[in-house]
Amino acid sequence: MACFGSCLTCPVAYSALTMAAIGARRIYRKPIQKKRLISQLIFLFITNAAFIFGVTGLIYSYFYCWEAPQATMSCPIGILEHAVLESSIFLAIYLVGTIATIGTIFGRAPCGWACPIGFLQDLVGKIKVEREIKRSRADERARYIKYAILAAIPFAVYYFATMAYTDICPIGGLTATLPILLFHYSSYTPTKFFLPKMILLALTIVLIINVKRGWCRYLCPVGAMLAPFNKISALQLTFNEEKCLKCMNCARVCPMKINLPYDTKSMECIRCGMCVDECPTKALRLEFKWR
Ligand code: SF4
Ligand code: SF4
Ligand code: SF4
Repeated sequence: MACFGSCLTCPVAYSALTMAAIGARRIYRKPIQKKRLISQLIFLFITNAAFIFGVTGLIYSYFYCWEAPQATMSCPIGILEHAVLESSIFLAIYLVGTIATIGTIFGRAPCGWACPIGFLQDLVGKIKVEREIKRSRADERARYIKYAILAAIPFAVYYFATMAYTDICPIGGLTATLPILLFHYSSYTPTKFFLPKMILLALTIVLIINVKRGWCRYLCPVGAMLAPFNKISALQLTFNEEKCLKCMNCARVCPMKINLPYDTKSMECIRCGMCVDECPTKALRLEFKWR
């Protein structure tokens, strides 16, 4: 398959997007899910629209590789690594300011409504290959791995004096290395990190296929950055116990397996609204609370 150089004029890009839209429309039936699908498609487009906007210098509030062929913005983890490598207070303030602003308003909603990697996992989740991982002590503990990864990144960058996470990032492998290999093979020079990155990517794909939102649940350092803001964000999941029938529909559909309907401030909540859509009495709501 040859790359035409411009996605705007590429029949392959349009066919793929149309097929994804038709397939996804069948999947996202409920009211909030329809809006979420539109949002995810728009952000998928914006994320890969450098052929229109160029490389903007802004920071994604979700996970996507800035080396992807049409990436418009910078990966938050890449900025973190550069801030450490270059001892740049400016970059650190830029990163913290951007994530804090978005997190304070939306909490972890970018994971549910914008992130292409979350979108990919939603689509994989709908083909029902993955197994339901029930809440368990092991599952609860494994969710802390992403915070450990996030905390370890600055130390690893400082110690190895290199972009230690980016070197082996499986999402970078998926969104940058593979497309470059497929479409711009002659311009790709493999490094010593190519094999480890591909092995991690293969393991990540196995995880995603087997566990609903498995990457988000256990491993994503960007999700770990946003998660604490769920406690204070303006966008909240609210619960009115008087309306609750204890039917547990909400708990059944939650992709992050949160302790619903009570743990509405959970750091794991991606504000996807699936529980809201399934609640027969509107006891759960997604709403902005400015106080
Ligand atoms: S946790 Fe998932 S949805 Fe959120 S940024 Fe990471 S990959 Fe994207
Ligand atoms: S609690 Fe509701 S909004 Fe949050 S992740 Fe689960 S289903 Fe989505
Ligand atoms: S779906 Fe609604 S009514 Fe049923 S348990 Fe959850 S909050 Fe209560």
